[in-house]
Amino acid sequence: MTVEVISVGTELLMGSIVNTNAQFLAEQCALLGLSMYNQTVVGDNKERLSDAIRTGLGRADILILTGGLGPTEDDLTKETCAEVMGFPLVEDSHTKDRIREFFKNSIYKEIPANNWKQAVVPEGALVLDNDNGTAPGLILEKGEKRAILLPGPPNELIPLFEGQVKPYLQKLRPELIVSQMVKICGVGESQVEDRLLDLIDRQTNPTIATYAKTGEVHVRVTASAPTKEVADKLIRPVVKEIKKRLGTAVYSTREEETLEMAVVRLLKKYELTVATAESCTGGLVAGRIVNVPGSSEVFREGFVTYSNKAKRRHLDVSKSTIKKYGAVSKETAREMAVGGAFATDSDLCVAVTGLAGPDGGTEEKPVGLVYMACCMGDKVTVEKYQFKGNRNKIREQSVVRALDLVRRMVLESRE
Ligand code: ATP
Repeated sequence: MTVEVISVGTELLMGSIVNTNAQFLAEQCALLGLSMYNQTVVGDNKERLSDAIRTGLGRADILILTGGLGPTEDDLTKETCAEVMGFPLVEDSHTKDRIREFFKNSIYKEIPANNWKQAVVPEGALVLDNDNGTAPGLILEKGEKRAILLPGPPNELIPLFEGQVKPYLQKLRPELIVSQMVKICGVGESQVEDRLLDLIDRQTNPTIATYAKTGEVHVRVTASAPTKEVADKLIRPVVKEIKKRLGTAVYSTREEETLEMAVVRLLKKYELTVATAESCTGGLVAGRIVNVPGSSEVFREGFVTYSNKAKRRHLDVSKSTIKKYGAVSKETAREMAVGGAFATDSDLCVAVTGLAGPDGGTEEKPVGLVYMACCMGDKVTVEKYQFKGNRNKIREQSVVRALDLVRRMVLESRE
């Protein structure tokens, strides 16, 4: 079954807003096992919108249109879609009541006359009640073709999709779609694809898709089957094979588990505590750990030691080390990690020192050079990275690597 998205709005074409609705819908449709081969963005123009709808309906089984359901003159989606599909517009008393109800709790004393336009629907359409706005969602069915109209504001579109459109689409498909995520850190997307190439080439059911995230790669394995049990049976051996090929680079197979959650889970499992000693990441590593509910069991203290003086004062990095090797060096990183573990009496301490730029790079030490160290008992691991990108990108990648270094140290020592 194929689906297409038409995003309506001149502001999308002008670049005034980002088309997050299309991204959300594409992701959701993929999860539902619907094939999407085209997406269209069209301005608030009746002729061009009619063309886009005709073309879309000619190619796909389902069209999802977003935006242009508002009360103003330039909101044309409903009228145009009804015209192209040959439905007259009729008043929907239920929607009229809902609009009245919606305005009861608003700042408006009177209902703006324009809003009654939203109580008019194509005859025979399924009306989807919108709890967060006045424009209802609409589903138009004609033969085998369907058009789903959703309001543009994401806070209206997302609940409507999740609560009403998703169950509708699920019912259209006799098969159930089940997927599992394999989350990988420390290996690039092309390396992941290389190692999984034959599996990806052979894929039919389940399918395998890779997604690159900052410092991570996510692999989604999706099966279509009549029951969850059958789908799980199809997915299980593929996930097992991916884990076998990527080893400890796989940090989680749980959809909702982030890297920091996996780190905290592991530290809790082995009853270990961790501290952080950060320079260029300025507390971001600590922040990510503290994002995880229950991290107080494993996280003691974090130092943000940006200046050399702070590195000496809080982490006992020796003056001579900084003078001889510089603040961005494997020697300083090592002393930061050892000093941080000692100062906090933690089982582990991870340290990050690097050049996030944009200034301050030299030929010998270019921007993006980052050292990180992790101390666990007597063992200290120091790693050197040369990241690409702007200041933010360099810092984000450093955070991911630092969290992963903690994870790998724990795994190496305990498993
Ligand atoms: P309303 O009833 O609020 O007028 P609408 O269905 O007419 O809703 P639009 O007028 O097209 O929707 O857009 C309203 C707002 O919704 C936009 O200003 C924008 O903030 C958001 N929006 C619209 N389309 C998108 C999109 N594709 N992705 C993200 N946000 C969007």
